Amino acid sequence: MRKPGPVIDPDKCLPDQCNCGICCAVLVCSMKTLVQEESDEMPFLLRACKGCGKCVIACPLKAISLA
Ligand code: SF4
Ligand code: SF4
Repeated sequence: MRKPGPVIDPDKCLPDQCNCGICCAVLVCSMKTLVQEESDEMPFLLRACKGCGKCVIACPLKAISLA
């Protein structure tokens, strides 16, 4: 069975409003699977991850869910 992974809602993800443009969810991703190429850009999932859920908790705008 596929492990749950993060899904980022583009309507809720507002990088310029959460942490001075730096994604809080990327900062807590110990697997480095969630990445942000430039500040103020929406992060994306580089590869499958372990679905730990830390990014879900870290995002202050509730833009990430596990699906
Ligand atoms: S996912 Fe959350 S913490 Fe990351 S840039 Fe978007 S709103 Fe900010
Ligand atoms: S669920 Fe965990 S491993 Fe996967 S992107 Fe979020 S913080 Fe990283």
